[in-house]
Amino acid sequence: MQEEISILIQAQYPLIYLVTSEEERTERVIAKIAQEAKSPQRRVFIWTVTHGIVEYGQARHITQHNTVSPEAAIQWTIQQKEAGIYIFKDLHPFIDSPATTRWLRDAIASFKGTQKAIILMSPMQQVPIELEKEVVVIDYPLPELSELNQVLSHQLEQSRTRRPTTETREKLLRAALGLTHDEAEKVYRKAYVKSGRLTEGEVDIVLSEKKQLIRRNGILEYIEEDETLDAIGGLEELKRWLQQRSNAFTERAREYGLPQPKGMLILGVPGCGKSLIAKTTSRLWGLPLLRLDMGRVYDGSMVGRSEANLRNALKTAESISPAILFIDELDKSFAGSSGSSDSDGGTSSRIFGSFLTWMQEKTSPVFVMATANRVERLPGEFLRKGRFDEIFFVDLPTAEERQQIFSIHLSKRRREITRFDLDQLAKVSEGFSGAEIEQAIIAAMYEAFAQDREFTQLDIIAAIKATLPLSKTMTEQVTALRDWARQRARPAASSVAEYQRMEF
Ligand code: ATP
Repeated sequence: MQEEISILIQAQYPLIYLVTSEEERTERVIAKIAQEAKSPQRRVFIWTVTHGIVEYGQARHITQHNTVSPEAAIQWTIQQKEAGIYIFKDLHPFIDSPATTRWLRDAIASFKGTQKAIILMSPMQQVPIELEKEVVVIDYPLPELSELNQVLSHQLEQSRTRRPTTETREKLLRAALGLTHDEAEKVYRKAYVKSGRLTEGEVDIVLSEKKQLIRRNGILEYIEEDETLDAIGGLEELKRWLQQRSNAFTERAREYGLPQPKGMLILGVPGCGKSLIAKTTSRLWGLPLLRLDMGRVYDGSMVGRSEANLRNALKTAESISPAILFIDELDKSFAGSSGSSDSDGGTSSRIFGSFLTWMQEKTSPVFVMATANRVERLPGEFLRKGRFDEIFFVDLPTAEERQQIFSIHLSKRRREITRFDLDQLAKVSEGFSGAEIEQAIIAAMYEAFAQDREFTQLDIIAAIKATLPLSKTMTEQVTALRDWARQRARPAASSVAEYQRMEF
């Protein structure tokens, strides 16, 4: 990244926009670029709304000119004769004002042929249309392994503890991927303070600190799941597909010439195990699972905030990669992104656009696992061939699958399967989803528990009879989904059975 910015500056790009929340780290990089430039040496100045323009490295109070207002500050840069880099921190709240935009355009024009450049540094991207063609936007990435290595080395030197082995060192570094420079520094320090050393045992401390930090940002959630694929009844095709790709993110797969899997969309009837599959995949593949909560991405408090939220979340997911990015209910997340998008000032269509572009262009191994219940609400772009590696359709379980689901949930509750007639249970629960089967068992247990006895086959049957399954209350929706999926999606259950299902 340092090299890219350096090239832009040398090539006399007058306006560069760095999207980052790591001010100090980015400032240091720019100062280094200025220092290392052969000729001319450039002075670096920093503008903030609190202190105006101050030279990099100088104490804050030394402002020699009245440059607190953005217009005055930009005007000041135009007047400078020497080569210089002018960093404007958090100009975004002012950038839409006609005067600021105009001054920036004047600066761009006057910088032509000079060794001067303005760098806008801000955690969110906000570029007025007048400047769109003039500015280069760079999303400043989170630290890579090599940079984290410097942070770790520094901590090791300070604590004078025994050097970890190369393997442990790598684990400590990987555990901190996804953190900012400062966060990594704090996490290593904390791990050291907690146990007085930095060895294999501290990897978990670093990881759990990271999970907390990710949780705090509120948009991504780190999900831990203990269940394995065995906890899912049926869906054999889907399981096979996933098992086949267990090692798809390894070096070996790359050497073999396999492309990195991009993602999958699981469409299906509610309660049939879509989310469960996503969660168990993380265990199967040994990759972290990050849930992207689209509801939290949207933030109308300020223009551009939602886009910044999405960008930051995706940036974090990329830096932790290989990882699985789980988006539950994709249909709800992006509903309204097409059609009359102006109900929210176009935010949802912009978010949708950014997400699609990211999916299209991402090179880091982030596997997108999305689920959806209603295909008609999904923007068509998601369903286009090639967007996902595969679109699976999870239908209501067949009789055989229902038997498996009963067996799984009865065993989970430590009951002897042989006490139950699974065949009969499967028959009476025709049209039930996995979630409804589970609920019927729980209802039967409550009934018996209240009467202080063990529950039986009859209790479960009674609970089933008392339930009106979604497939009956939402017949139209289920039929529509099936009709659509039959032609365009791959059945998650073994394919032959899928087409012989009874119709509703
Ligand atoms: P929704 O669309 O409502 O989010 P979903 O398809 O994602 O539903 P899950 O949330 O995965 O369904 O299912 C809810 C619960 O139902 C699961 O946690 C699991 O306990 C049970 N369940 C559903 N399907 C199965 C299955 N095939 N095998 C075992 N359990 C299942």
